[in-house]
Formats: sequence, structure tokens, C-alpha cells
Amino acid sequence: MLIVKKFGGSSVADKDRIMNVARRCIEEYKKGHEVVVVLSAMGDTTDDLIAKAKEINPTPPKREMDMLLVTGEQMSVALLSIALDALGVPAVALNAFQVAMHTTSVHGNARLKRIDTERIQHELDDKKIVVITGFQGMDKYDDFTTLGRGGSDTTAVALAAALHADLCEIYTDVDGVYTADPRVVPNARKLEEITYDEMLDMATLGAKVLHNRSVELAKKYDVQLVVRSSLNENEGTVVKEEVEVEKKLISGVAADKNAARISLIGVEDKPGIAFKVFNMLAKENINIDIILQSVGRDGTKDISFTVEKDCLDEAIQIIEKNKDKMTAQKVESERGVAKVSIVGAGMMTDPGVAAKMFEALYNEGINIKMISTSEIRITVLIDELDADRATRAVHNAFKLEE
Ligand code: ADP
Ligand code: ASP
Ligand code: MG
Repeated sequence: MLIVKKFGGSSVADKDRIMNVARRCIEEYKKGHEVVVVLSAMGDTTDDLIAKAKEINPTPPKREMDMLLVTGEQMSVALLSIALDALGVPAVALNAFQVAMHTTSVHGNARLKRIDTERIQHELDDKKIVVITGFQGMDKYDDFTTLGRGGSDTTAVALAAALHADLCEIYTDVDGVYTADPRVVPNARKLEEITYDEMLDMATLGAKVLHNRSVELAKKYDVQLVVRSSLNENEGTVVKEEVEVEKKLISGVAADKNAARISLIGVEDKPGIAFKVFNMLAKENINIDIILQSVGRDGTKDISFTVEKDCLDEAIQIIEKNKDKMTAQKVESERGVAKVSIVGAGMMTDPGVAAKMFEALYNEGINIKMISTSEIRITVLIDELDADRATRAVHNAFKLEE
């Protein structure tokens, strides 16, 4: 059997944790399995590297940031293979260039295009545990790229797909996927199983237990994922196409504090304005989320939307530069907002779900700034300071702990 095991930052945070990971990998290896390990950077290394760069330059060039950030994963893979050697098992650490993990050139948010498997296969044939850097890739200009925060999960799933692995395990610091972040909602319930679609929505809406693109890839290539803890033997959560358990109305609550709101006030009420605004932002790779447009009055209207907090300054710069083309009379922005969402295929057929969510927020005195819905989710934009309280209130209202 070929197994891909991915360990996140907290699972390799120090020497003892690295030895723990080494032992868990050896357990599988000794059973005769082929083991490919994907690692994140140790503990808060990535955050620390970002802070270091910003001390020197508040707007560091993205290519140079990738050069810096890839060092985190390079350190952890080297240390794990050194640990495996100490325990008498042959291992080899490889980075994105050595494997050849080809990505697009969007620094800081690159997408994997292709992974060469020859080198990995060759090392596995030599009976080695192969330890690979998560999060990083290489582009056609022979530069390092990174896949976006949390991207090591995506490396692991892509490798599992490319190698036709029998199993892809994501080891983290909680026992699996819960009905809400267990650090915010202490009585959240661990899910035995969740569908790709629901997990994709949860991840996209802020449940950072899995990188959303890893779920997208898992669905596309039919890679069954298991999310479990590196610190115990508990069973974890299986992410797959169909689940057997009875469908609840909603499967979880997700919160995303990495949001900011921009409003263009008084734009002309004529065709093409929304196109111009969003096209200019898309060209600069700025992701837009909830969009709200007011009904036109006296020839003008307002367009509001959300972006990631890190992109706010850049988005505002682009808008200010093109304010005339966008015909905006005024541009407003707000950094301290968060999105809280409920997700679940069961809500499709139930008209009372939205009202129940809004009632829970009303009972807490929480004001809703924007609303967005799809067939299987409802998202509200609220004050960032209310996010945890809102998550708990909504989780309670739907009795998800039962
Ligand atoms: P890793 O470093 O292992 O990749 P992350 O910090 O990226 O770990 O993701 C794990 C964290 O995700 C957990 O510690 C938890 O606080 C958070 N989380 C958010 N939503 C959920 C959820 N629905 N289920 C489980 N964990 C969640
Ligand atoms: N080390 C990277 C990060 O902190 C990638 C990851 O952890 O998945 O975002
Ligand atoms: Mg992660």
C-alpha cells in the first residue's frame, strides 16, 4: 500500500513532535507500506518569517517572499529525515525543485499544474521514506512559488493523486473535522464523515482545518481523505463523495476573520460598471467574495463587496487609481469584519433555515452587514468582534452538538 501522510505545523513544532512523527511514519513503513510524508513549516515559522520581512519592508515583493517562506518547509523536511535516520530507517528529504512540482507563477497563491513522480518512485523503490516539502512549488521561470496559507494540505492531496496512493491522511492538532472550530465552540461535535462538497464550502468559508483547494483536488481525483490528530490514535473524519449518516439540516458553522469590506458609493447606474470594477481587480489576482449591489436611485447605485484582509490595501490602491473609470463618487472600506456561515446540503429543501440563523444573531444583538446565500450555505458579514459569539449562537440554535 502507498500512503501519503501530511503533518501540519503544530505536529512538527519541536524536537519531540518531530520524533513522534518519525515514529508514526516508521510504524507504517515496518508494516511493509510505501510512505510519502508531506510537512508544513515548524509551529509558527511561516508567521515569523512574514513578520521578519515586514519589519524590513511593509510591502515586500511577492517573489522574494516566496524565496523566504519556502525555507520553513525545507527546514522541517530535513529535520524529519535526520530523525528517521537516527531511528535507523532510510529516508530522503526533497523540495519542490527536486521532485519537480510545477505550478503557475502567481507568487503567494500559485496553483499546482503537474507533479513529476519519477524521483519519488525511484526513492520508494530504494525502500526509503520520502519526505516532501508542502506549500511550495516551482514555476516555468525556475522560481519558487507558494500555494497560499495552509497550502501543504493541497500538496499532500496532489501527491496522493499523482502517485495513485491508497490513502491520504492529514494529521493536525484536532481529532478531525468538527461541526465548528472546536477552539471557539467547545461543545462542537466531531463528524465521522463529510462530503467533498460540504467540506469544500466549510474550508472556503473559513474552517482552516483543510485548505480549500486540497478538497477541490480530492474531489476531482477521487482521493479519499482522512483528517486526524497526530497526538492520539483516535479515528478522525473521512472526507468523501457520499456519506452514509443521515443528513442533518446543516452540517457545520464556519467563521472567517480574514475579511474586509469595500464599498463604491454613487457609481453610475448603467451597464458595464460591475464588469469594469471586478475585471480590474481580477487582473491583479484579487479574490472577491460577497457582492451586494443596491437598487439604482437618481441614476446612481452602490456596490459593496468583500476581499481578504491582506488584499485590502492593494484593492483600494487599484480602485483609487481607476476611480473615474468606475465612476465612484466615494470609496469606503472596513477592516474589522468577519464572515460567519452555515453549510449543509440538508438546507436546500428547508425554507426556515435562514430565519433561524438570523434569529440566533438577533437574540445576541448582532447586526448583519451583508448576506449571501447558495443552495447549501448562508453567509453573513458581521463585526469581527462578534464572530466567536455569533458562531456559538448559531451552532446552539441548530443543536449541532447533539
Ligand atoms: P495544521 O497546522 O495541522 O495544518 P491548521 O491550524 O491549519 O493545522 O488547522 C487546524 C485548526 O483548524 C484547528 O486547530 C482548529 O482550530 C481549526 N478549525 C477551524 N474550523 C474547524 C473545524 N470545523 N473542525 C476542526 N478544526 C477546525
Ligand atoms: N506553512 C504554511 C502556512 O503556514 C503552509 C501550511 O501550513 O500548510 O501557511
Ligand atoms: Mg493547515
